[in-house]
Amino acid sequence: MKSFDTVFCEQFKEIIVLNKSFKDITTFKIGGKIKYLVYPRTICEIKKITKLCNRHKVKFVVLGGGSNVLASDDCFEGVVIKTTEIKEIKFCGKKVVCGCGALLGSVVISAKNKNLSGMEWAVGIPGTVGGACIMNAGAFGFETFDRLNYVVVFDGKKAKKLYKKDIKYGYRTTEFQKSSVIILKAQFSLLQKSHDEIAKNIEFFVQKRTKLQKICFPNAGSVFKKPSKDLSAAEIIDRLGLKGKRFGDAMVSTFHAGFIVNLNCATCKEVQKLIAFIFDKVYNILNIKLELEIIYIP
Ligand SMILES: Cc1cc2nc3c(=O)[nH]c(=O)nc-3n(C[C@H](O)[C@H](O)[C@H](O)COP(=O)(O)OP(=O)(O)OC[C@H]3O[C@@H](n4cnc5c(N)ncnc54)[C@H](O)[C@@H]3O)c2cc1C
Repeated sequence: MKSFDTVFCEQFKEIIVLNKSFKDITTFKIGGKIKYLVYPRTICEIKKITKLCNRHKVKFVVLGGGSNVLASDDCFEGVVIKTTEIKEIKFCGKKVVCGCGALLGSVVISAKNKNLSGMEWAVGIPGTVGGACIMNAGAFGFETFDRLNYVVVFDGKKAKKLYKKDIKYGYRTTEFQKSSVIILKAQFSLLQKSHDEIAKNIEFFVQKRTKLQKICFPNAGSVFKKPSKDLSAAEIIDRLGLKGKRFGDAMVSTFHAGFIVNLNCATCKEVQKLIAFIFDKVYNILNIKLELEIIYIP
């Protein structure tokens, strides 16, 4: 039998990108080298890649925008599947079906061009539809599942449609975070509105985000989930005077205490040390157990 390396490189040579690390493909700009990085162009290619990995027991991880992850400094000896080429956005009446790699910003703008509203809150979130469905990303009181009808997932063997009513989800969490399914596409229901009204909504959310998140260094968004409805992790961290606390090049943002920023060449270990420090401080002083929002890639 041919080795995984031979078969993989033969079969996917057109979509493999060599000599890359997680630094190159995540918004945090942190993480070790990647043995195989692929940018599948079709859903069929995703299926083929994962089937081959499973057959050869090679680990793989799926990434969209890489905007909610912290990757280990070690070399990743498996396959990273970057979905950003699967970006089709197709409208049918007030419904839109998006490929897993479609950027949230593109969905909002394409919808605006069809006078369709409902996702404007997502402008400025640097993620994909797949990532947003895994995380139930949200902002300003809205979340991905609000307008979701169904997702199509691949479980390594077959693709199936899962309707929202059959999916367990909550604040920044979905059952998918504990499984290994791949989101292939998702359908959302939007609302008819005028072009002007949608443009105004977009402008409103852009302004709100600019005020709250004027951050100039690489980051992965909010590191911790809100511990309760009325209290953000950022408020707690700020109250404990931890803005500016740093280990190496990993620092609690001086602008938004919920974010950790990479000042230049922070390592995953430095970020983890800072996370542990914040966690302990908050727990020891306030008896609140913070929960991570960002996902660690070992
Ligand atoms: C500046 C900034 C601002 C942000 N603001 C917000 C905000 O307001 N609200 C918010 O909720 N988040 C925010 N985030 C975090 C992040 O952008 C969102 O969680 C986003 O939805 C993640 O999408 P992604 O495509 O980047 O996912 P990734 O980071 O690539 O992946 C996240 C997780 O999903 C998995 N995954 C990704 N795609 C798939 C797929 N197709 N199938 C299976 N698994 C998949 C990955 O393996 C990983 O576990 C922000 C981040 C940054 C950097």
